[in-house]
Amino acid sequence: MDPFGVKFILITFLVFVPLERLLALHPEQKIFRRNWANDVIFLLFNRFLIKLGLLGVVAASIFAAAQIIPASFQAAVGGLPYWVQIPAVIVLSDLGFYWTHRMFHAVPWLWRFHAVHHSIEELDWLAAFRIHPLDQIITKGVSLVPVATLGFSEWAIAIYVVLYQWQTILIHANVRIRFGPLRFLLASPEFHHWHHSSDREARDRNFAAQLPFLDALFGTLHMPKGQMPTRYGLDQPMPQHYVRQLIYPFTGDRIFQSKPGTAALTETIQVPAPK
Ligand SMILES: [Zn+2]
Ligand SMILES: [Zn+2]
Repeated sequence: MDPFGVKFILITFLVFVPLERLLALHPEQKIFRRNWANDVIFLLFNRFLIKLGLLGVVAASIFAAAQIIPASFQAAVGGLPYWVQIPAVIVLSDLGFYWTHRMFHAVPWLWRFHAVHHSIEELDWLAAFRIHPLDQIITKGVSLVPVATLGFSEWAIAIYVVLYQWQTILIHANVRIRFGPLRFLLASPEFHHWHHSSDREARDRNFAAQLPFLDALFGTLHMPKGQMPTRYGLDQPMPQHYVRQLIYPFTGDRIFQSKPGTAALTETIQVPAPK
């Protein structure tokens, strides 16, 4: 029994902390950077809420699919070779992720949930875990529906889940690893760091989780050659406290980021940034 995923956390720590020291993108950033303790709480406790929510979404979609999708179709999909199934699972799930993520940026009420993830001001491997559970359950849930219902084999899904998990941590990490020409095929730290940039020209860009060419296809790619962002986070700070961040979308803590197009919803009472 390892309910807190201590083994996974330990392996991740042992891989990424030395990597971030050896290949730091922002060498001045400390291992115990600002608000790291808040993200450790996300890392330890969020998983229960997210697992429970995703289990519900997947179970409901499997039940619904059983009424709609013929078993013969599912068997045909499950019988495809792995070199077809694994890329198909990644493309389908990332399409779902892309559009749901984009919706979380575009719809002001949903943005309140997603703003929790964007409140990170210093990116590293640990930052990947700061996400509102409802944001993760909906975004990841939508992306898992085709994966769970079309009949893909368990092995193809398992490989996809492992790739997704490690890629998500890597793209947040404070590392200067670049993917060369592959940067348009696979999401890299360069790709996702721009998504968190507070520069105006980088806003609402790079929505994909794994496949940047989806952003190129839908006109939202931003990866200026040879450049990396220097500032991350929201225009207006958010309370750096797990519980307050969980209730933030409902109470607002009276602050919302003044994003282009959502200015009308911006409230004015601000909570000072913890330093
Ligand atoms: Zn986002
Ligand atoms: Zn992120």
